[in-house]
Amino acid sequence: MNQSNKKKLEFIKNSGVNYYLQDSPRNWFDNTLSTSSISIKNENGDKFDKIQQIIKKIKSYDTPLKNAANNLVVYDGNLDSKVMFIGEAPGRDEDMQGLPFVGRAGQLLNKMLAAINLKREEVYITNVVNWRPPDNRTPTDEEILEFLPFLQEQIDIVNPDFIFLLGGVAAKAILSTPLTLGKLRGTWHEYQSLHLNKTIYTVASYHPAFLLRSPQYKKASWEDLKMLQKKINEKN
Ligand code: URA
Repeated sequence: MNQSNKKKLEFIKNSGVNYYLQDSPRNWFDNTLSTSSISIKNENGDKFDKIQQIIKKIKSYDTPLKNAANNLVVYDGNLDSKVMFIGEAPGRDEDMQGLPFVGRAGQLLNKMLAAINLKREEVYITNVVNWRPPDNRTPTDEEILEFLPFLQEQIDIVNPDFIFLLGGVAAKAILSTPLTLGKLRGTWHEYQSLHLNKTIYTVASYHPAFLLRSPQYKKASWEDLKMLQKKINEKN
């Protein structure tokens, strides 16, 4: 994508357009391709089926990332969870197993969850990008934008009260901001979905892989986790 197109996309996004459609025409008669098939009202009945539809859509979405990866990685955890954790993209272990956060970063994430009395099976875990970028490179802005509608649909289906963003890519995708994590963390942000009539309280914090490399940031991460725990307890 050239710079001018990128600028246009940024402009569109900053203007409040949340869904990015592909160039090819959409078949409005094919249910599996329709974002409007997500009915938020009967959320507890068929979330599983709706997520399966998204998985199908991501699988059929044409991207060079798909050719370089082994397995599609969409989510792990609980579809009925009120807490959603969003990472960047699958790494090597995730690509092998087809599940998010199962490698070293995932083990640290499990410990972070346990520290605030949450189990992996109790939360919904996903990534911005669902195929492993070659050599674990950071997803490009274009890739982030391409996969964003799939992530937004997952948020609409799961309908969480809280989102915990793991790292700068997730923060950029969901909060649409160029600010660094140092500026974004430690405070609550409000995420508004186009389809859910509510505010989702969102916190952006450090990625577990970054914490493995830079353990001096664990204290700040712990503060962010405690913020989340407090808010969950207040809600209950
Ligand atoms: N890093 C991520 O951002 N996601 C994973 O699933 C694993 C590592």
